[in-house]
Amino acid sequence: MPKTQKRNTMISIILTLIAFVLFISISIFEELAEMSMMIMIIGVVLLASSWAVYFLTGKPAPKEEVENVITVIACRSCGQLEERSFAQGDYIFKDMGQCKKCSGSSFIKSIYSVSPKKE
Ligand SMILES: [Zn+2]
Repeated sequence: MPKTQKRNTMISIILTLIAFVLFISISIFEELAEMSMMIMIIGVVLLASSWAVYFLTGKPAPKEEVENVITVIACRSCGQLEERSFAQGDYIFKDMGQCKKCSGSSFIKSIYSVSPKKE
């Protein structure tokens, strides 16, 4: 999470907390009854601004990890192995038709993912 985003989230939480403390103090302290209307307005404004901060910051975008998924195709007859990038509909033991090398039947032996190196 970028630093500014973290800070804005903190501000949003703090503003919400202050608003709630104000609301609670109205109901606890009778002396504040006269000011309750004003305190309520302040509380609402704080809540609104905390949401504004939250929405302006935007939800933290999910980290786009481009995973490299590899499908391993093996031949039942000659043991030829071929790797290619994963394609939609690939699953383990799926029949892949003729082997390129010996015309035997080939199938998907395994599917694995390679995580990209973190910078
Ligand atoms: Zn083969």
